[in-house]
Amino acid sequence: MTAIISVENLSISYRVPGGNLRALRDVSLSVARGEVLGIMGESGCGKSTLAAAMINLLPTGARISAGAVRLAGTDMLRLSPEDQRRLRGRSVAMVFQDPMTAFNPVLTIGRQLADFAGAHDPARAAPAALAAMLGRVGIPDPQRCLDRYPHELSGGMRQRVAIAAALLMQPDVLIADEPTTALDVTMEAQIIHLLRDLRSSFDGAIVIVTHHLGVIAELCDRVAVMYAGQVVEEGPVDSLFHDPRHPYTRALLACDPAVVDPASGRLPAIGGRIPDLTALPEGCAFAPRCGMAQPACASPVPRHHPGPGRSVLCHGAGP
Ligand code: ATP
Ligand code: MG
Repeated sequence: MTAIISVENLSISYRVPGGNLRALRDVSLSVARGEVLGIMGESGCGKSTLAAAMINLLPTGARISAGAVRLAGTDMLRLSPEDQRRLRGRSVAMVFQDPMTAFNPVLTIGRQLADFAGAHDPARAAPAALAAMLGRVGIPDPQRCLDRYPHELSGGMRQRVAIAAALLMQPDVLIADEPTTALDVTMEAQIIHLLRDLRSSFDGAIVIVTHHLGVIAELCDRVAVMYAGQVVEEGPVDSLFHDPRHPYTRALLACDPAVVDPASGRLPAIGGRIPDLTALPEGCAFAPRCGMAQPACASPVPRHHPGPGRSVLCHGAGP
């Protein structure tokens, strides 16, 4: 399958008081049209930095030291600010964790959607077009919703509106960074349901960042597992969930129902702490927490390809 968006050998760091924090190290990924990629890993492993790079919305202070993000062949990270703005929203759109941050509190939903759509294509800013999009994401009374202010909606409804806003321009790529994390369990289930429905009607690529194993299992075709700024394992969801090869993935998926919180389906905490990203070792960053670590793990880690579409960054995963 041809990739619609691809991340190629991307390395990004932040300047912090303690030095240079290496948030992403040599990350490569690609997503094809119609495909849903999940990105999972513990807090601080670089998921949001990767998502932000994919829509070229990196925070100030982020430095791209190597690599590219190609959208239909164009390196987005090296476009003029004008071209970046044009592509953002139209070609790549983003749904954030907290839908409140996506809205201006003093403007109605209708006005904000119209401004956003009108900036790209005035025809799409017509109230009927906006209401139709709100209907598509399950807003019960779309006309009335257009006249409301963000604080008048529940968190779940706001997230639906945020998803509608992202879909307005029919982007090629939809990126959702923890789209359900700020919601309660019932609303979370509803948004997962909505995203699953959208899968069948949206013909672009979807990238979902999540801590939630259930979201990956229900929505994604492929999954990338991140640790300390690297993709340590990647593959089709079924194959990776049934046969995880990286000790970190195995620890995350230690799928004893007693370990995964049954109410939320969230990832268990695993022993030890993530490393200091300003002073990473030359070898495997997971070794200090890994029950299978050997002396070789102190040297640079090779990437193995244990099966179709699978890759794993681990000394112990070789043939
Ligand atoms: P979470 O699950 O908590 O959202 P994450 O996997 O999304 O975490 P990132 O937010 O990408 O992780 O952060 C990766 C690393 O970069 C972390 O160590 C974080 O503290 C650091 N970081 C992120 N944004 C900045 C910033 N603007 N300035 C400095 N450091 C940052
Ligand atoms: Mg994040």
